[in-house]
Amino acid sequence: MIEIEQAREVVLDSVVKIESEIVDITSSLNRILACDIYSDIDLPTFNNSAMDGYAVISSEIKEASCDQPIRLEVIGEIPAGYTYSGKLMNGKALKIMTGAPIPEGADTIVPIEYTKEEGALVKVFRGVKEKENIRQKGEDVARGELVITKGKKLSPVDIGMLAALNLRNVSVAKLPNVSILSTGDEVVDIGEELSSGKIRDINSYSLYANVIKYGGMPKSLGIAKDNKDALFKSIEKGLNSDMLLISGGVSVGDYDFVKELLIEKGVSIKFWKVAIKPGKPVLFGVKGNTLVFGLPGNPISTLVTFREFVLPAMCKMQGRLGKPITEQYAVLERDISISPGRRHYIMGRICYRGGRYFTKPVGIQSSGALNSMLQSNCLIIVPEDTPRIISGEKVLVQLLDE
Ligand code: AMP
Ligand code: MG
Repeated sequence: MIEIEQAREVVLDSVVKIESEIVDITSSLNRILACDIYSDIDLPTFNNSAMDGYAVISSEIKEASCDQPIRLEVIGEIPAGYTYSGKLMNGKALKIMTGAPIPEGADTIVPIEYTKEEGALVKVFRGVKEKENIRQKGEDVARGELVITKGKKLSPVDIGMLAALNLRNVSVAKLPNVSILSTGDEVVDIGEELSSGKIRDINSYSLYANVIKYGGMPKSLGIAKDNKDALFKSIEKGLNSDMLLISGGVSVGDYDFVKELLIEKGVSIKFWKVAIKPGKPVLFGVKGNTLVFGLPGNPISTLVTFREFVLPAMCKMQGRLGKPITEQYAVLERDISISPGRRHYIMGRICYRGGRYFTKPVGIQSSGALNSMLQSNCLIIVPEDTPRIISGEKVLVQLLDE
């Protein structure tokens, strides 16, 4: 049995980076950027008005007040999208809309709220400082600036920026192909008869969803019975993928054949059994560039080991920067005791009250208790060497609604 950090390092050391592909930016949400994006333009590209108002010369309206407004002659109008070709002279104003280019000669914009039209004139009731309400060329992004860093998961804001930079396409990491195999004579699919002793296949579906959620291309290989022939064939199919996730059959039961068959198929087993609860019998192996994970079959064990081992591998494969899981310290509200030696992940709830985070366990802590996980919004992490944490102490939690 090895420690979690050591096991994760073994997984990460085995990851081979996936290729990149070019996609239309409308299909790039949540994809991992494969190259740095530099701007070859200034943003804004020209000085423009931040307000609807009047382009004027600031020194001329310095003394303006409600009692003694300054009157200027309005010589024209600049809607957004049009440029005024002349120059603004003393005593004049140009009506201007938000986003329109600042005309030559003007050095400030008086918001419309500080003015009143009077025939061909405008009365200005307040002075406005030089450069006020003007968005300067390059103030947001300077030409040559690094704007989005390689490895970032693209957000709607990033995609907006790509559009601003006139980029219709973007280079992103390919989505890893992830095959998912459930095992067990007792496991039956949705819609099939649930005869005595049988259970529904949960893991195929929760893993499928997790793969989509974290940027993979899932493929379900269905359910393999606990016999060597059936498992052998399914494993063979899955070894063509970037990753193969097998749930169940990796423990020490008489019908747990996964490890043996993986070895027979030429998979080099890198570890089996990690100091974690739930999920101790988790297995990891490699064949060529394919990463193979044997996840213990209990649904909570499957989900926890996915987060701890599969997810970091998926991220590294795509060159994703930053942690995909958010961690947070919280004050424990109920004592927790564990048998030390393994890091425990306790299903719990975290809430924010009076400026602090509080957390406590939720429901029964069985590795099969899916409903406890459903009602949780965090996993409370109890370190390997800590048999007891007392209410009031600080604990680290992983947020589940990330
Ligand atoms: P195993 O890891 O094969 O020993 O399975 C451990 C427990 O998880 C057993 O109670 C299995 O019935 C259950 N289990 C295994 N595979 C699945 C699955 N795909 N969906 C739901 N439960 C499962
Ligand atoms: Mg089994």
